[in-house]
Amino acid sequence: MNKSFRTFLKHTAKDYYNQSVNPPVVRASTIIFKTMNELRKTQKKGLKNPTGGHFEYGRQGTSTTFILQQMLREMEECYHVFLTPTGFGSVFLSIFSIVRPGDEILVADPVYSPTRFLTQDFFHSFNIKTIFYNPHDLNTLKEKITKKTKLIYVESPGSNSFEFQDLSKIVSIAKKHKLFTAIDNTWATPYFLKPIKLGFDMSIVSATKYYSGHSDVMGGSLAVNKRVFKYVEKANKITGLRLGPDDAYLIIRGLRTLDIRLDKHQENAKKIAKFLSKNKKIKLLYPYKKGSYNYKMWNKYYSGASGLMGLKIKSKNKNSVLKFVNSLKLFAYGYSWGGFESLALQQEFRELGKRNYLKLDKDEHLVRLHIGLEDPKDLIEDLRKAIKLIK
Ligand SMILES: *Cc1c(COP(=O)(O)O)cnc(C)c1O
Repeated sequence: MNKSFRTFLKHTAKDYYNQSVNPPVVRASTIIFKTMNELRKTQKKGLKNPTGGHFEYGRQGTSTTFILQQMLREMEECYHVFLTPTGFGSVFLSIFSIVRPGDEILVADPVYSPTRFLTQDFFHSFNIKTIFYNPHDLNTLKEKITKKTKLIYVESPGSNSFEFQDLSKIVSIAKKHKLFTAIDNTWATPYFLKPIKLGFDMSIVSATKYYSGHSDVMGGSLAVNKRVFKYVEKANKITGLRLGPDDAYLIIRGLRTLDIRLDKHQENAKKIAKFLSKNKKIKLLYPYKKGSYNYKMWNKYYSGASGLMGLKIKSKNKNSVLKFVNSLKLFAYGYSWGGFESLALQQEFRELGKRNYLKLDKDEHLVRLHIGLEDPKDLIEDLRKAIKLIK
């Protein structure tokens, strides 16, 4: 991350008109014009110039959402950013923009489980076939490419099992076969990985997580290159997906400190990982252990690691694993992550979706931790007490 970008997040959108540091929240359905001629002129212009924003009607956004788009475009180093009311809206929009009945899509086996259901079940009913590939064996990807294949959909690292993939290799396979590519980059955000620069056509981030950073707003962003812009723009108009200006404002506010927060999440998570790695019953699902394939892939592409990690715990006594999770005092239990607070989640295998390439033994259990911005000494103390309960 270069210095100018950090500065950009702090300096953008100063509002000299209102003499305020931050931009106003502009709520609008109707956009008004001084003359009928002026209205017609903006209509004709269309959304040709993605840097300008386009006032026509509230569904296309207001100056508040345009500012958020500008900040994200700068960070992603991409052609355009579409905003959606949730992260999952961006997942949907990316696939819906590209695939049509009769097409096939190749999807990373460990995708976010709602993405799995969307592709294998919902899109299936529109005669779109999904094939899952092994994130650690790209031959399972290459071999499954047919004349009907349209899109490769990646999520890195894998949801809950944290597999890091050979991203450039995926891009080059896609280019060779003229396929489109999308990646869910919510874990790293463009602060640690810039997928469009790597050659992906589309990059999804759930703004609900680190962008907002305070667990009080939902949103999504879909960054695109020039190649797919026209497809996504068309689909975006049809779906009516739109992020409201109040939510956009909260996400702008979160972005001001994204770099600082992520640096601290990373620092804390590394300390926790160091502590947990000493426990023989625990295998860390976090890019920590040098020499592992996951570490190599992470190191090759990412400039940092965020605060979400998995623990694979070996125990013949599942109840004792539940006791460990339940006795944590500083970790709350709940879905989502990316806020300033620590969270814990014991995971049932069925919640992960039916994985083709994830094998867990009967005595292996998955726990997910989000390492927040608390004092890491307190978090370690909390974990130290609870971990003793694992039998
Ligand atoms: C949370 C999440 C989503 C969905 O985002 P929402 O804002 O909750 O809709 C998509 N992908 C990943 C990897 C996520 O963690």
